[in-house]
Amino acid sequence: MYYRNGVLWESFFKALGMDYVLSPKTNKGILERGSAVMADESCLASKIFMGHVVSLLDRCDCLFIPWLSNFGECGINCTRFRAFPAMTANLFRDREPRILTYAIDYSGTQDMKHAGDEETAFVSMAKALGKSKKQVRLAYREAKEKAERAFYEQRERTQRLADGDGKKILMVGHDYCICDDYIGKPILEALKGYGVTVIDANHVDRAEAQRDFLQLSDGTLPWIVSRELLGGIVHFRDRVDGIVLLTGFPCGPDSIVNDVIRREVGDMPILYLLLDGQDGMAGVETRIESFIDILNFRDMGERRNG
Ligand code: SF4
Repeated sequence: MYYRNGVLWESFFKALGMDYVLSPKTNKGILERGSAVMADESCLASKIFMGHVVSLLDRCDCLFIPWLSNFGECGINCTRFRAFPAMTANLFRDREPRILTYAIDYSGTQDMKHAGDEETAFVSMAKALGKSKKQVRLAYREAKEKAERAFYEQRERTQRLADGDGKKILMVGHDYCICDDYIGKPILEALKGYGVTVIDANHVDRAEAQRDFLQLSDGTLPWIVSRELLGGIVHFRDRVDGIVLLTGFPCGPDSIVNDVIRREVGDMPILYLLLDGQDGMAGVETRIESFIDILNFRDMGERRNG
């Protein structure tokens, strides 16, 4: 969730004058260390998350791990985002890590102390941070404004790319897969190496996406990020040549949503990449190359048919 909330979090701690350290970019060692402590059946993203925790254990006074449950009518997060604080405390109980958290629960249905909307949740950290509620509220509001501006600018950049010329591919996946240096970035680079412009489906107006996703699925789809990704497909599909679905194995929400996408998106070429993090890019490059060939053949066919 750093890729979704990073500006908010960093700006918040900066506004309070607090030092923070970030874990390094994901690499093989981080994945291996995370895999060593997590159950085998855990998803790739969870293993990477725990690898990052290991990398920070000796480098900070406390770990910042928000508890992100639901955003009311906008949807819920995968259960792992509720599990991470307790899971971390339990897995590393010998080290007794201090965990700084806030709890998001817009629906008010969760039995979690101090849970609520985002501002309420941030203010609840005041005591743990040794700050007054007023200081924390002001820092949150300043950080939120920065985060919204940064996301707006990011969306504008993506819009310009989508409106530009050339071959374009819509990348559909969780930010923490697409933006991850070990699993997502090599795929983006490989696509760019073929001269393709990559459009990130996450870069859409979130309120708009919450309406648009209903064109591809009924309102029972529970996960907020999945809804927004479907909204992103609706938003960009007329301006891209194909879709890449990027999923970390085994992801429950993605297994359902990817199926919806394949059924509902019509005849647009779709490349489905299911990554387990073990093979690096072996095999993936060949599949990307074949996918680009398919897009080129389609272009040639369309030109021939006038
Ligand atoms: S949504 Fe999927 S990839 Fe993300 S934490 Fe949940 S199971 Fe893992």
